[in-house]
Amino acid sequence: MSKVFIHTVGCQMNVLDSEMVIADLKRHGYTVVDSPLDADCVLYNTCSVREHAEDKIYSALGKIRAAKEADPSKMIGVMGCMAQKDQETIFKRAPYVDMVVGPGQLHTIPELLQRIGRGEGRQLAVSLSRTEGSQATIARSHETFDPLRDPTMRPTPFQAYLRIQIGCDKFCTYCVVPNTRGPEQGRPPAQILSEARILAEQGCREITLLGQTVNSYRYRDGDHTTDMASLLEELHEVDGIDRIKFVTNYPKDMTERLLTTVRDLPKCSPYLHVPAQSGSDVVLKRMKRGYTIADYMEMFERIERILPEAAVSSDFIVGFCGETEEDFQKSVALIERCRFKNSFIFQYSVRPGTQASKRLEDDIPHDVKVRRNNELLAVQDAIAKEDNLKLVGSVVEVLVEGPSKKAAKSDPDANVVQMVGRTPCDRIVVFDGNRRQAGQFMKIAIDDALVHTLIGRVQTVDVVSIDLART
Ligand code: SAH
Ligand code: SF4
Repeated sequence: MSKVFIHTVGCQMNVLDSEMVIADLKRHGYTVVDSPLDADCVLYNTCSVREHAEDKIYSALGKIRAAKEADPSKMIGVMGCMAQKDQETIFKRAPYVDMVVGPGQLHTIPELLQRIGRGEGRQLAVSLSRTEGSQATIARSHETFDPLRDPTMRPTPFQAYLRIQIGCDKFCTYCVVPNTRGPEQGRPPAQILSEARILAEQGCREITLLGQTVNSYRYRDGDHTTDMASLLEELHEVDGIDRIKFVTNYPKDMTERLLTTVRDLPKCSPYLHVPAQSGSDVVLKRMKRGYTIADYMEMFERIERILPEAAVSSDFIVGFCGETEEDFQKSVALIERCRFKNSFIFQYSVRPGTQASKRLEDDIPHDVKVRRNNELLAVQDAIAKEDNLKLVGSVVEVLVEGPSKKAAKSDPDANVVQMVGRTPCDRIVVFDGNRRQAGQFMKIAIDDALVHTLIGRVQTVDVVSIDLART
């Protein structure tokens, strides 16, 4: 039986793609191993969003070279966004790579591996680029790949990602995703629902719906259109699924209708990841994000009004082309005003093929980017800790994921281990418990808080009147 090893970097979409590819390969007789050295086939699922992510893959490819030379039958594959973006260049930079497969061609992997096994040489499967045909032809060449689900590939079997949308049409000037993942396409609701039911049958309790601009989800069937709110209503009916989250949201599409739907459906988590990217209007304009800070604040106030308990999180890019100190301070001010639950902060990295790479100068020195990154993170972390401390004394409901990293390494027979769970608002909670609690919903009393973690204990007294923080 052939053995496969997969190394995954990047976003949730990639984690999901890896799960799908492995499910497919297992159906074709492969087993999964933990080390590239033991594998007959080594796959790298790659990311192109920042240069650093690509550098790491090229360095990993450099490390596998000796193993490939020692055993030329070992197949090396590069899949994901970097495969779509670099295509033949990967064969030039790492000539011992056997296979390059873009994210819209993952269904071809078993067949390509067979061809390589038959001695047919290197295989390349990528989708059309944005200029290589009509919108419909290009869209067809970026296929969603959601055939079988494999709970063993998920960090926990109780939580799963579910793709509802592929691609992106927003073309923010810094971003490579519309090129690597192709046009925005909503998946048919019937497919999404049947996948949710399969996940529920596999014991999954929480699903996170995925899309680059997930709340812009739309699917047209004749004259009937399903939007995100109606999709949530349909998914809410799936027995066994108790929690529904969705990422990533686009600020302009966070409508009143969607927010009231989240408020009215108890399974929907009031956790909203809505990246702002910058606090400055001129920078947002240069990024072509399609909104101003006034628009963002209008949206934010709508969230505060309809879902006052919501946890909102964001992404920021620091050091984008032309970002002055004054612009940067506006990002600081936005974090201070919105008090995000957390923010992912990135230093701007020029991406070939994007509008910014063609028209704007990457003029912010590296040390300034690093300084702004650290400063923004410090402001965000201080707020996250203050707000987490406000939860001390409350009781939250968590879905228990399993032992914490620390506990996973400890004695497997220990009775009491540190367990990790997540609140509806995606807050991480650790508490002393036991391994059998994994997959259960439990009430935890919060005793202390750190920047990214709440520390609690199992609430033993079953007081009906406890006001559970939907937090
Ligand atoms: N679709 C999501 C994000 C996809 S990329 C959205 O629109 O929010 C994830 C994050 O990477 C982005 O939110 C952005 O903050 C960051 N990012 C994207 N391109 C980047 C670049 N060229 N340099 C630095 N960060 C980037
Ligand atoms: Fe990239 Fe913008 Fe699309 Fe997000 S919305 S994937 S940042 S182009």
